[in-house]
Amino acid sequence: MSIKNNLLEIKSSIPENVTLVAVSKTKPVSDLMEAYEAGQRIFGENYVQELVEKHEQLPQDIEWHFIGHLQSRKVKQIAPFVSLIHGVDSLKLLEEINKQALKNNRSIDCLLQIHIAEEDTKFGLDEVELNDLLDSETFKNLKNIKIKGLMGMATFTENQDQIKKEFLHLKSIFDKLQTPNSKLTTLSMGMSGDYKLAIECGSTMVRIGSSIFGTRSPLTPKGGIQQ
Ligand SMILES: *Cc1c(COP(=O)(O)O)cnc(C)c1O
Repeated sequence: MSIKNNLLEIKSSIPENVTLVAVSKTKPVSDLMEAYEAGQRIFGENYVQELVEKHEQLPQDIEWHFIGHLQSRKVKQIAPFVSLIHGVDSLKLLEEINKQALKNNRSIDCLLQIHIAEEDTKFGLDEVELNDLLDSETFKNLKNIKIKGLMGMATFTENQDQIKKEFLHLKSIFDKLQTPNSKLTTLSMGMSGDYKLAIECGSTMVRIGSSIFGTRSPLTPKGGIQQ
């Protein structure tokens, strides 16, 4: 199967209101171009340096999403162009994103990452931490970031019931945050192995890598190495 065929097949299997992020980490720009030529415009990357290089080399109408674990000191490298940062899980990181966005005279869209998996290796806030963050004065004063929604990753398991339970948990937190004057638009959940289930559970954005581009080198851990 070619990248183009994989992409078209996945696109035809997801509803129109669900956004597809093509996760291209570790893949060469030629692979991204193949997806681009097949119509894909949204790409997700996990590593800052790789994202910066690909942004320089590829067409300017690509929307770049950062989906990895972002370190505060690296925010400035992606702040000029990033479209959406998925994995924000601290107020400190949000403050830095706000600061760099201001320097670039723009606003940066973010998703807050919620910890829904059993493994404690995965990043993210719990519901109490989420509410504390949203209620804090510091947060309310950040004018150059916009929280568009939530992101989460389910446990890496074959157990569909467990994955479903975790996705529904995230969806319930997402629903609770909806108020008449602040509508969140984006619930980023679902990867190659579980995106259909994620969509059934209310996902509006799926992040799919290996089902489009093929498997990555086993040296690259799932979820990405820390930088
Ligand atoms: C790598 C990665 C993906 C894509 O994973 P696949 O299983 O290859 O689809 C999605 N989300 C995050 C956060 C990732 O790190």
